[in-house]
Amino acid sequence: MTSDPAAMPPSQTRPEQTPTPLSAPDFSTPTEVDLRPITGAESVLIALDFDGVLAPLQDDPELSRMLPESARAIRALTTLPGTRVALVSGRDITTLRALADPPESVWLVGSHGAEVNLGTVPTASSSVAPSTTGPSSAAPSTTGPFSTAPSTSAPFSSESSPRRSAEEQRMLEAIDAHIASFEHSLSADPSTGSGTASDGGSGASVRVERKPFSRTVHTRGLDAEFASALHAQVIAVQTEHPGIRVIEGHDITELAVKTATKGDGLRALATADSPAAVLYLGDDVTDEDAFAELEGSRALSGMGIKVGPAPTRAPWRITDPSAVAELLTRLADERRTRQARQ
Ligand SMILES: [Mg+2]
Repeated sequence: MTSDPAAMPPSQTRPEQTPTPLSAPDFSTPTEVDLRPITGAESVLIALDFDGVLAPLQDDPELSRMLPESARAIRALTTLPGTRVALVSGRDITTLRALADPPESVWLVGSHGAEVNLGTVPTASSSVAPSTTGPSSAAPSTTGPFSTAPSTSAPFSSESSPRRSAEEQRMLEAIDAHIASFEHSLSADPSTGSGTASDGGSGASVRVERKPFSRTVHTRGLDAEFASALHAQVIAVQTEHPGIRVIEGHDITELAVKTATKGDGLRALATADSPAAVLYLGDDVTDEDAFAELEGSRALSGMGIKVGPAPTRAPWRITDPSAVAELLTRLADERRTRQARQ
């Protein structure tokens, strides 16, 4: 393994945590990763990011789908004793469930930890529950989360009823107004009303994903200069509303009204399941919060695996969703074999 701490992104470790040494592991093949702490544990939590881990990244985020091999491995894992699988995503839970189509027993964390579903009815994470005064004013939407048209309707479904405080609602409305103020200028052709806006150069599209606690501007496939200018334009809303959190990931800029992280989500899962060991796989900057949770927690015994080349604090690294599928298949096979021997 090599070390290159200078290349690390800003630490998102919670202030009370003691920073741990960073590492930048070399790539391993799926067969080289030492899975013994997971295969041999009496009970395990296997927490998996979705986009870029189970599903290859797509220019159109609506087209993300889990690789069939990973879907098969997850189904196999969920049939094994003492084996809990969870998906941990920046997507809202409704969208995550629709895209991933996981088995019913799979737990879900959405909106970077602000939503946690430990059963059939999603609930807000207790660790990040808002101090709300009542139910959200948002109405159920049938239009889906992706649009460029300014909207006050969040993509809630009947299964998810997250709540926002009055202040969070105010910030979300400010985000919508901000995006609406420049959204029209993105399209060279005002007739572009199909849910995308062209950058006028590459022909690629800007997509705005509307979630219960945030708005995400997707820039994948855009001209780099245009994407950079768009990013600057998006985050300008923070000047007037410093409470808005900017989340940067693979070709996305997200404006969020909650401070929950995937580390919070992972902690909520582990608290509910009390596993003997935790495995977490993620590919993006936001997954570093989950890796930090594994590092910093005395209660969690786990291992993190980074997917892709970006800097990380995880001790292991594999290449891409195909490698993830191979690793999960191997994990299911080895855990089943080991349990059969006991
Ligand atoms: Mg991801």
